[in-house]
Amino acid sequence: MSVIGEGLAAKEIYSRTHELRRLSPRPERKLAVLTCMDTRLSIRTLGLKTGDAHIIRNAGGIVTDDTLRSLLVSHYLLGTEEFMIINHTDCGLTNTSEQDLRTLIQNRTGTAAIAPAYFYAFQNIEENVHHQLQKLRTHPWVPKTVAVRGFVYDVTTGLLREIKHP
Ligand SMILES: [Zn+2]
Repeated sequence: MSVIGEGLAAKEIYSRTHELRRLSPRPERKLAVLTCMDTRLSIRTLGLKTGDAHIIRNAGGIVTDDTLRSLLVSHYLLGTEEFMIINHTDCGLTNTSEQDLRTLIQNRTGTAAIAPAYFYAFQNIEENVHHQLQKLRTHPWVPKTVAVRGFVYDVTTGLLREIKHP
């Protein structure tokens, strides 16, 4: 059976109780988290449970046009008041460069492509978190009343470290 097939079988079992049925679409704790898609990160590592927060994920935990769109929907339509940006140690995007990744895929596929324009590879994790914070804090549609804070998650210790902006 494929992994998707196995997932469908497990879903069948879950639906018999469907204990998350009563959750609201509005995050209980008025929190939106933007983080990496890394397998080692989960709501558990943040001390959250399902229903507490919006969890928006992409490779790196990067503020892109689309994550910004989600965060704005999260605040304006669904009432979140705090945005938490989390990058993590040992991220796949720190082990490559923009050009290396593009070259790797072009060699594998034998063709160039116009999109994605960026993979957002980065070297310095603190600096990267700082850039994401800047993108949000300077955006005219992100109100000053929304707390925007950035963190590095250490995959070895399980601890979060806040990146203070200057
Ligand atoms: Zn990552």
